[in-house]
Amino acid sequence: MLLIGPPGAGKGTQATRLAEAFVVPAVSTGDIFRFNVKNETALGLQVKAFMDAGAYVPDTLTNAIVKDRLGESDAASGFLLDGYPRTTDQVAELDRLLDDEGTKLDAVVLITADTDEVVSRLLKRAEEQGRADDTADVIRHRLDVYAEQTAPLIDVYSARGLVITIDGLGAVDVVTDRILAALADRGLHATNTIEKAANPS
Ligand code: AMP
Repeated sequence: MLLIGPPGAGKGTQATRLAEAFVVPAVSTGDIFRFNVKNETALGLQVKAFMDAGAYVPDTLTNAIVKDRLGESDAASGFLLDGYPRTTDQVAELDRLLDDEGTKLDAVVLITADTDEVVSRLLKRAEEQGRADDTADVIRHRLDVYAEQTAPLIDVYSARGLVITIDGLGAVDVVTDRILAALADRGLHATNTIEKAANPS
């Protein structure tokens, strides 16, 4: 399964919850990059400037980390990708990886939220978490990059009949329930019941 949506739509929060519900790992390229930046690894040093500027990390680097991560044993029976693919080149790479494994995507969950809402959420997150890429200018740039490079992927996956569009406005639990209901409608049933969100707003 993939989770797509603009920065601030709540992908990360929902990804963690869906992963728990379906008992699969949530793989977030943003989290992998942040971990590497924090630990000053060679990869972290390569990607920091792109992230701080709100630009995408080059496809070659991004594709390589996803290939490695999906090759780990916990991803063998399924996974949920949060924030990947984000470019058409990444779609092609994911298609190749899935083909090689003889597997295919079950669903692409598109979480929508209007621009004012995502900007205010990201500014709030900046206060709470101090992320370097959550300043007003960088947020604006990230939204532009999303519109230019990632929004077109929605058409690609829609043409394959995979997209489930979910309104991302509302409490965390409500949004999770919307996603679970839409997935169940397509025959994708969660195996685990998940706890209510600690911070439901
Ligand atoms: P996220 O946490 O998903 O918002 O990602 C934070 C930042 O990590 C993005 O603004 C990019 O700089 C980088 N990043 C994460 N995923 C990707 C991706 N699939 N392709 C390119 N850059 C990415």
